[in-house]
Amino acid sequence: MKPVRAGVVFLLCLTLASPASAKDAVYDCAGREKCVALTFDDGPHPTETEEILSILDEYGVKATFFLIGENAERWPELVEKEIRAGHEIGNHSYSHPDLSKADYETVCREIDEAERAVWENSEFRTRLFRPPGGCFGEAVVRAAKERDYTLVCWSVDTRDWAHTPTDQIVRNVMTNAEGGDILLFHDSIAGDTPTPQALRIILPRLIGEGYRFVTVSELLREE
Ligand SMILES: [Zn+2]
Repeated sequence: MKPVRAGVVFLLCLTLASPASAKDAVYDCAGREKCVALTFDDGPHPTETEEILSILDEYGVKATFFLIGENAERWPELVEKEIRAGHEIGNHSYSHPDLSKADYETVCREIDEAERAVWENSEFRTRLFRPPGGCFGEAVVRAAKERDYTLVCWSVDTRDWAHTPTDQIVRNVMTNAEGGDILLFHDSIAGDTPTPQALRIILPRLIGEGYRFVTVSELLREE
């Protein structure tokens, strides 16, 4: 199975009445030689995040974690650990609702509450926002712009969230990842997660192919 690419995600999410367009978000930085950004959504999670952090550390890889505010409030020590390890933190809303049809006030509250939850203790400030499911409409575009946030989606969906078998995730990534891609993983999946096992295979292979790993902000800066 091929991973879901950016344009497909956006078409799935687009509401007909919305003037928001794929131009309003970053999906990749195509054409960048041998350089990808790994992103992990929905954490922190007490066991999955710990395991993924130790795998990333083992391979010296920096990634970007898009946190849910509620989870950051529950496990602030994991947020600290991510920051101390040199990873980037992004905002993934406070309670992870579908924001594509939400009204402006709801969108603002979701962004601001997540920001407060993540940053009031850590003093880490991000200007990256990933809407839940990668779905957004006009209200998200407006609220993000007013707060100087960049909307960040992805170009390769590993589908780890759907409990895709490890070998399929590995095949998807190794067949389809190109320089400049933003890869979507999760560090909080209900039930058994295939993500750590997949990472243990994918990371050494990509490194062997000469890839380096950057945070999303680094990827954007290198444009
Ligand atoms: Zn999510």
